[in-house]
Amino acid sequence: MNRAQDTGRAWIEIRRDALRQNVAALRTLLPPRCELMPALKANAYGHGALPVARELNRLGVRAFCVATVGEGMELRQGGVEGLILVLGYTPPEDFALLPAWDLTQAAIDCEYAKMLAHFGRGVQTHLAIDTGMHRCGERWEQMDALCEVLRSKRLRATGAFTHLCAADSADPEAAAYTLAQACAFADAIRALEGHGWRCAKRHLLASYGLLNYPQLGGDYARAGIALYGLLSGRNDFVRHPLPLAPVLSLKARVALLKSLRDGERAGYGLEYAAHGERTIAVLSIGYADGLPRDLSCGRGHVLLHGRKAPIVGRVCMDQTLVDVTDIPEARRGDAAVVIGRSGGQEIAAYDLSEAGNTITNEWLSRLGARLPRIVV
Ligand SMILES: *Cc1c(COP(=O)(O)O)cnc(C)c1O
Repeated sequence: MNRAQDTGRAWIEIRRDALRQNVAALRTLLPPRCELMPALKANAYGHGALPVARELNRLGVRAFCVATVGEGMELRQGGVEGLILVLGYTPPEDFALLPAWDLTQAAIDCEYAKMLAHFGRGVQTHLAIDTGMHRCGERWEQMDALCEVLRSKRLRATGAFTHLCAADSADPEAAAYTLAQACAFADAIRALEGHGWRCAKRHLLASYGLLNYPQLGGDYARAGIALYGLLSGRNDFVRHPLPLAPVLSLKARVALLKSLRDGERAGYGLEYAAHGERTIAVLSIGYADGLPRDLSCGRGHVLLHGRKAPIVGRVCMDQTLVDVTDIPEARRGDAAVVIGRSGGQEIAAYDLSEAGNTITNEWLSRLGARLPRIVV
């Protein structure tokens, strides 16, 4: 339930219809028998893991992946149903949490698979296979030791997965690399199954895998950024473009308005000086909410009553000053749009991630923990 005060200061709005549209769009690309396994790590890329997961449960989504055991627990505590795969390292001291919360743990290399097997208590695992990214996963060409762990029957391995690291590029070298990764994954599973183990679930596609190589198949597609209605970069290569709609807007209240006389300064460090009489609005959002300090001194703006209000002075931890001299309707309590639409104007997540020389994934995942997330 949303509380009135959730929209009192600064908040995130999650559009249910956009999430539905994206799920439907991504499902059109899913190969036969393949299901979505949305990536809800980092608080669902800033969107709010619990409200997003609940909505996805309602849409029939029954598998999720997260980065940490704590993220998995948060979903279970909130009543989320289905498979929850922890993709990252869980320290052995926390292994007991996995069966307690019905979480499936990625076996991030052979040694780690042995540790899970030794722990016992039927921890469910998906074997991570490294096919060339060289991050998590046992090397695909070294399945012998993993076969031995499986033969011991102490590991409840119900699946295997790999991660593609160049599926977002049209470059011929990247395309060849991606196909080689898919072949290596198939080889590794063949080697594991050659010793009597049955791989119930296999998966290798994330957003760009699905958008560019849906034919590679699998039982799950671990879509993250695309589910949130975005690409990592506005002009990224996509072989199968989909009608995706951004799910998130970010808004902040005008706390007060202030008239400055010619020459008066504002904000930390005397960075701003009023040229002529100006009206400044104090917004109740700051860098602790994820609004980067980089956007200080006119490098960023917000939308108010369908018009741009440039940021003046330095973004503070909890507050930001904007110039509303040309927006005479501005009042205390107005909602300023940091990401989203106002009138005919829009600030897209792309605009902010580009200004910060990064990708939408990073920008959104840095949104502050204290922002309420509400579903609209
Ligand atoms: C983050 C992550 C995903 C989701 O990636 P997107 O590009 O956002 O779809 C899928 N799989 C793994 C292993 C990941 O780490």
